Amino acid sequence: MAMTCWQCRLTSFRPSLLRVSDFSRLLVLCFPVRCTACGERTYAFLPEFLKLRSRYNASRSRTSSKD
Ligand SMILES: [Zn+2]
Repeated sequence: MAMTCWQCRLTSFRPSLLRVSDFSRLLVLCFPVRCTACGERTYAFLPEFLKLRSRYNASRSRTSSKD
């Protein structure tokens, strides 16, 4: 079950930068992510966050090795 952006209904997210205000979320294992389509910032639970981070890193390293 992939998470869905509440704004545009897409399921494409990338990890977002941590802010001080995120720490209360981190305590319940929610990590900030950003929708790649509309830029909406939301939170993902740790397993989902790790999955999309590894996907994001893999796609980034594929892109950079092409250059
Ligand atoms: Zn969106």
